[in-house]
Amino acid sequence: MQIHVPTLLLALLMGFLLLTLQLAAAQRRDLHQPALRTWAQGCWAMLFGFAMLGARLFLPYGVSVLLGNGLIMLGLLLFHRALSQHLLQRHPPARMWGALALACGWLAWTLLRDWSPAARSCGVSLLLAGFTLPSVLLLLRHGWQAETSLRIVGLTLGLTSLAMLARALDAWWRPAAYDSLLQGGLSQGLTFMIGFIALLGSGFGFVLACFERLARRMEEMAALDGMTGCLNRSTTDTLLEHTLERGRREGEPVAFALLDLDHFKQINDAHGHRAGDAALRAFAAEVRSRLRASDVLGRVGGEEFGIILPGTDGPGAARLIEEVRRAVAALELPGCAADGGGIRLTMSAGVAVAEPQAGLSADRLYALADAALYRAKDHGRNCVLLGDTEPAGLPLLPDVP
Ligand code: GH3
Ligand code: MG
Ligand code: MG
Repeated sequence: MQIHVPTLLLALLMGFLLLTLQLAAAQRRDLHQPALRTWAQGCWAMLFGFAMLGARLFLPYGVSVLLGNGLIMLGLLLFHRALSQHLLQRHPPARMWGALALACGWLAWTLLRDWSPAARSCGVSLLLAGFTLPSVLLLLRHGWQAETSLRIVGLTLGLTSLAMLARALDAWWRPAAYDSLLQGGLSQGLTFMIGFIALLGSGFGFVLACFERLARRMEEMAALDGMTGCLNRSTTDTLLEHTLERGRREGEPVAFALLDLDHFKQINDAHGHRAGDAALRAFAAEVRSRLRASDVLGRVGGEEFGIILPGTDGPGAARLIEEVRRAVAALELPGCAADGGGIRLTMSAGVAVAEPQAGLSADRLYALADAALYRAKDHGRNCVLLGDTEPAGLPLLPDVP
């Protein structure tokens, strides 16, 4: 069976044209994805590379093969650069790329002039396999744990590399089959086709990976508070409802604590809003570090935080929040203040508990915790109040003035 190479090249050309146009359309939406832009540049290089190879019927043979393969290699380098950008890895500087491209150009020119067609096919296939391999290694080292679609990119690029290696070996063992580059035998045509269709598939995989990451970021932005990394108000509310529902089903109590920083306005006034923001982030990190894996911390207002404590009764919750209060009071946030000094914080907290048989709604539990917090403020701040009981612990520090 014979394969008409120009027809094959035309099909690949159409495939890359489709992918490149789709990428160009995606870029017009101002996605600010530099990796996607670099991959699109690689696609343009591939597109013109295939066009040059296909134009060998009209162009001088040397120009077509040299420019065609050169542009395909440039495309592979750009794909590697795009993957490095996506995985936040360092990539070789443009200077090194220029030197590499020149060296390969010189090598290709030498092969083209002096070697037989089979030796040329072998050499060029080895070069293409070599240019694909760094991307495969990069994906194996850093991309496997990232987006799932990146595995498709790794597998398809690996397949490209293998197909090119197989083509090089085939040309080595059966040089007669490579005499005509326009009318390839089955093995030459198949390896060529598999290699480049896999390359095309890697492009679709990369686009999927970029959009997978974008979707994950958007999900995070919708669920999290950007400044502190805690859950935002609406996610905390939803989660509180779900936790209460599960608590009722499993016969477990659910505790909810509302934390509010004491006199936080004064911290802003004294040290500025930026220092206030840094203090909020440090506070959230400190609280998070004291919670169990099953507990959930959400930022429910400017300097108010809610903690959902599943499977926790009143005394247990009050004990835990009291530990948090002590840790916060002992905390000195280094370098947060405008003068480079530390900032001290205190917090007040109200804790409420929903027993499984009580059937409390999330709103009611929230209101009970809020009322307890209100009384903690009235009680002199820097303390934890459970329901309508006495403070769970004595203040460690006097109120921050
Ligand atoms: P209290 O002890 O009664 O809670 O006093 P307070 O000053 O903490 O309470 P109040 O509710 O009067 O003020 C809260 C302040 O929190 C007001 C606002 O400037 C500050 N704040 C709210 N959100 C942010 C934020 O995102 N960043 C900063 N820096 N400050 C914030
Ligand atoms: Mg406050
Ligand atoms: Mg407040």
